[in-house]
Amino acid sequence: MKLFNRIGIVGLGLIGGSVGIAIKQNGLAREVIGVSRKRPTLNKAIKIKAIDKGFLGLEALSGCELIILCTPVKAIIKLFSSIRPYLCNGSIVTDVGSTKFEIVNAAKRILPKKTDFIGGHPLAGSEKRGIDNAAKNLFKNSLCLLTPIRENKRGNLKKIKLFWQMLGAKVKVLKPAKHDEIVSLTSHLPHLIAFSLMEALPSDYLSYGSSGLKDTTRIASSDPLLWAEIFLTNRKAVLKSVSQFQEQLAQFTELIKRRDEKQLFAKIKKAKLKRDKLP
Ligand code: NAP
Repeated sequence: MKLFNRIGIVGLGLIGGSVGIAIKQNGLAREVIGVSRKRPTLNKAIKIKAIDKGFLGLEALSGCELIILCTPVKAIIKLFSSIRPYLCNGSIVTDVGSTKFEIVNAAKRILPKKTDFIGGHPLAGSEKRGIDNAAKNLFKNSLCLLTPIRENKRGNLKKIKLFWQMLGAKVKVLKPAKHDEIVSLTSHLPHLIAFSLMEALPSDYLSYGSSGLKDTTRIASSDPLLWAEIFLTNRKAVLKSVSQFQEQLAQFTELIKRRDEKQLFAKIKKAKLKRDKLP
């Protein structure tokens, strides 16, 4: 089903490239164009059928009914001013950024009223980056969080919901601040812990890395720029999550200090049962 005539994707990395492939495979647009800073990225995106045409300049976005911003978070915010001249009446702008409150507020401040910005965050991806890792079916059976605001047109929200559902995702709608609070615990804190764990590990112990270490720290291989920006654009919620985690760590530490095997067992069991319930 063609939902849009022309879709523009800015930032053809892991997520942008995968969105493009999924749009084209599901025939959701008559034409998909991509904008990147590098010609080789565009060539690769065309080769893997993520886009029909590629451009180095944002002016190519003229005439797009849907624009999807798929760059790192701070670049998404900067793009609001740069894409302004190329937005047409009634177009929808959305994004895939991992934090939402700052992005949604910036969009409200900067984008013209003739367009509708609906924040999005597909909970799909990995520690890998770049167009070389774009994958078909990345969004199949995943969850996509949308963070609309009062000003959004209901019809547009319906259309964006349908868009993600057609890419295979289940959609949940959250307020931007609630989104940031939840993902600070479910995604940002785990990344911070994985980075800290690797920092705590002496380099000459790397060769002794257990499968447990590998499982726990896979995400520490994620892109540094992407993650520095995520932590800083969700600073308040991340810091609150860190406090919650420190409290748990302190409780475990205390039980170990006290040699309290019974309580330690009970606490580990409680954690295990919770982990076993993860969908
Ligand atoms: P990525 O693979 O590094 O792709 C980002 C792309 O954006 C790059 O290919 C780069 O393309 C372009 N870009 C980078 N900096 C830019 C800038 N300053 N101005 C314009 N373009 C720029 O990253 P990703 O994993 O796809 O992440 C993209 C967005 O999705 C981020 O906001 C991230 O928070 C969000 N997200 C990521 C995941 C995940 O698991 N990775 C999951 C959900 C959401 P060129 O260098 O070719 O121009």
